[in-house]
Amino acid sequence: LVSRKKKSEDTVIEINGEKIGSGTPTFVFGPCSVESYDQVAKVAASIQSKGLKLIRGGAYKPRTSPYDFQGLGLEGLKILKQISKEYGLAVVTEIVTPAHIEEALDYIDVIQIGARNMQNFELLKAVGATNKPVLLKRGLAATIDEFIHAAEYIMSKGNENIMLCERGIRTYEKATRNTLDISAVPILKQETHLPVFVDVTHSTGRRDLLLPCAKAAIAIGADGVMAEVHPDPSVALSDSQQQMDIPQFDAFYEEIQKFMKQY
Ligand code: PEP
Ligand code: MN
Repeated sequence: LVSRKKKSEDTVIEINGEKIGSGTPTFVFGPCSVESYDQVAKVAASIQSKGLKLIRGGAYKPRTSPYDFQGLGLEGLKILKQISKEYGLAVVTEIVTPAHIEEALDYIDVIQIGARNMQNFELLKAVGATNKPVLLKRGLAATIDEFIHAAEYIMSKGNENIMLCERGIRTYEKATRNTLDISAVPILKQETHLPVFVDVTHSTGRRDLLLPCAKAAIAIGADGVMAEVHPDPSVALSDSQQQMDIPQFDAFYEEIQKFMKQY
């Protein structure tokens, strides 16, 4: 169902006035984790001032260590909902278990399936049974074929609003947190009719690589770019090494705007 052979036109998903997959890149910025209302509000104000329409932020965090911050859960979803109303932003947030889906539907606009859950088939089937747009991230060590099949699980249950997100894969390379597989973008665009995002934060794990990788994503035809922004990354409860602060975000976005004008 997700195959280009089944449907030759690009799927366009409309969220909060943004037509994702229609040719102009969509940007999803926001903190790694929702930590407090004030923390998210600062980022939301900056996103809104740029005329952008979406915000990300994790309420349920799939962390490597059980002793690390696990997210605010429902409290985090409530903060996101309030921010969404006050700043006019659509919310993208990760759901990690089918048990949370129903409750989350009232609070969020896009369900993110994280890399660690790309092959959580019960979760894929459960989000497939909703009509919420889904942002599906590529698994840490998933082939493109496995990634496409994960999207197929969702669509086979009836939900056609799926966005794919390349977020880096695990290789022997240690210079970056993961290895951004930039060629996955045109392959996914050829093989499927779905919009394709690139998450420059989790793929690189390096602030100095966010801008060049975002440019590469846009140049190669990505439909959107995701990156993390925190008012004070040094005290962030997750991913403090790689989030942009607000001035860095302003500079990043200005450079991206300049870059896009060349096209
Ligand atoms: C995230 O986007 O919050 C996240 C945890 O990313 P990933 O699932 O790609 O590791
Ligand atoms: Mn993160």
